[in-house]
Amino acid sequence: MNESIHADATASEPQDRVTELIEQQTAISEVLRAIANSPHDLQPIFDAILDSATRLCRADLGVLRLSEESGLRSVAVRGNPLLVSQFWSSFPALAEKESFPFRMAANRLPTHIADLTALEGERDDYWIRAMNAGVRSGLAVPLLKDNEIVGLITLTRQKVQPFTDRQISLSRDFAAQATIALEITRRERQYREAQMALAHANRVATMGQLTASIAHEIKQPITAARAYAAAALRFLDKSPPDVAEVREVLTCIVNETGRTSDVVDRIGSLIKKAPPRKEIVDLNVAILEVTALTRSEAVKTGVTVSTQLAELPRIQCDRVQLQQVMLNLIVNAIQSMRDVEDDNRKLRISTESIEPEGVCVAVRDSGQGLRPESLPRLFEPFYTTKPDGTGMGLSICRAIIEAHGGRLWATGCEPRGALFQFTIPAN
Ligand code: ADP
Repeated sequence: MNESIHADATASEPQDRVTELIEQQTAISEVLRAIANSPHDLQPIFDAILDSATRLCRADLGVLRLSEESGLRSVAVRGNPLLVSQFWSSFPALAEKESFPFRMAANRLPTHIADLTALEGERDDYWIRAMNAGVRSGLAVPLLKDNEIVGLITLTRQKVQPFTDRQISLSRDFAAQATIALEITRRERQYREAQMALAHANRVATMGQLTASIAHEIKQPITAARAYAAAALRFLDKSPPDVAEVREVLTCIVNETGRTSDVVDRIGSLIKKAPPRKEIVDLNVAILEVTALTRSEAVKTGVTVSTQLAELPRIQCDRVQLQQVMLNLIVNAIQSMRDVEDDNRKLRISTESIEPEGVCVAVRDSGQGLRPESLPRLFEPFYTTKPDGTGMGLSICRAIIEAHGGRLWATGCEPRGALFQFTIPAN
């Protein structure tokens, strides 16, 4: 009889191995999918890794801790829901240096505890808590990057049931995946921060090119308000004082100062280094704000600006970023017309709604136009034909538009001039 049991067990072994391999394969693709779907947020990735690790290693609870200055902080806990809530209520989120988990991570090798009750050596507060929580068998695998400890995965069971060699090697794979996910998101974050800093620097630089015009824009209403104030004083000096006239003049002062603060607000929101955020935006209004900021520059250069704004679906976008795109395109257009000989300097800004659901914005100038050799290079970073140019404007614009799911392109116009267009899908 013993023999027949043995024979059955051997027959089912290859089948078990195949099932196990399929399970592992599925677990790996779940983690990869989580990494692909969530490049900015680590939590779903950690959850997917821990879900797979606890399931495949037949653990009751999985905990992922990440290194920080003062120890290891629990960032994801998965498994039996009752045990998960018990974990959060009985264990401190931070396992300080010298605590039991920290010492296990410091080994830099997987630590397997077959039976916690039989553990030899120092039994600290963590050990007592784990005992009280009913933990019996445990496995701790450090996350290492260049031999630096970046975290720790622990898998535990409520019964004395040692982990097999295969489960230990599996948990090592999961620790490696968690380390890769951490690295990908860290790089992604660094890249985004660098892009944001660049975009901010470009906005400040572009605004810098408009300083003289904007100063003029602000000075105008202040001068007007001063003249109105002088008039109000004269009306008050009359005998009897002409209160009706004073009231009218005061209203004009309020309007003029309102214009000044509008300009300052618009500059403020463009210069501010705010993180990108998506909101429902009326693109036409956002465009008009930018044309208002550039109006004086256009006047100074002798450019006539016309706008043809169609009714648009509301789009979800980062308002400041799209205004930055408009600012770059408008300033480039004005600059391209500076050296044009005749007085026919025209800038036309138009919007239209496009099928299926989206908007298309066009900025067309009658400037020097695009040289055939520069057409394919316009959007390359650092490509510039201006002595004081940075060559960053258009590449940042394209990155912004593409991040919104749209497209930005340029075409030459006849008899001269350039047309820049971009689309943004509505969602
Ligand atoms: P920069 O303005 O600092 O040169 P951009 O990336 O904004 O950087 O522009 C890159 C180049 O594209 C410009 O140097 C110019 O040669 C060309 N360009 C951009 N806009 C226009 C335009 N409206 N008309 C003609 N050339 C343009």
